[in-house]
Amino acid sequence: MSESLSSSKQPAIRKGICFVLSAPSGAGKSTIANALRASQSNLYPSVSVTTRPPRPGEVDGVHYHFISKEQFKEYSETGKLLEWATVFERGYGTPKDPVVEQLTQGKDMIFDIDWQGHRQIRQALPQDVVSIFILPPSLQELEKRLTNRASDHPEEIHKRMQAALDEISHWKEFDYVIINNKLDEAIAQAEAILTAERLKTNRQTFLHSFTNAFTL
Ligand code: 5GP
Repeated sequence: MSESLSSSKQPAIRKGICFVLSAPSGAGKSTIANALRASQSNLYPSVSVTTRPPRPGEVDGVHYHFISKEQFKEYSETGKLLEWATVFERGYGTPKDPVVEQLTQGKDMIFDIDWQGHRQIRQALPQDVVSIFILPPSLQELEKRLTNRASDHPEEIHKRMQAALDEISHWKEFDYVIINNKLDEAIAQAEAILTAERLKTNRQTFLHSFTNAFTL
């Protein structure tokens, strides 16, 4: 009996995609990432490790794995991290095993990491990374958004503004750029990119073997 090609009984049609979102703090990256996770099936977050303390409302194992400096050093030195970087004097990194496991199962993953992490992950998994850089509509708007954040102190805001300029200087290293002027448009653009990337011919490994079976 023939089975439909789009049937869920088929083995994973393709390897998962590493969907990387980077942006300066205050550009709306987390909001866009959350909206994508809510609207898209088969999209799983990569939960990073960090040495920074949790902010109010952040849950260990959900938003981050909050670990000590010693643990972070051990993880980075023993190859447990796919990429890692120091951001705002704190260690941040992506645990390797969950990524390898989920991509192999055909699960797409979303990464909220900085430009340093993007460079490393692209080098480690060149075929699997699709990256988007999110820009604020203007620097004035970015400053306003950073100032409105209740959880950060003024000197922290100044530091983040400087870091934002540094982060923005790397936008050309990404596959796509979205200007987050209107949130719903920015979300729709990110969804469109994900949809198109999922349908790319060179990702359809199952279909390749299916048609190869008929090649003389
Ligand atoms: P926050 O402390 O505001 O959650 O994150 C600060 C910055 O660290 C953000 O730009 C975020 O994207 C980045 N970041 C979070 N997790 C990781 C990670 O695992 N690796 C890297 N390279 N950057 C990360």
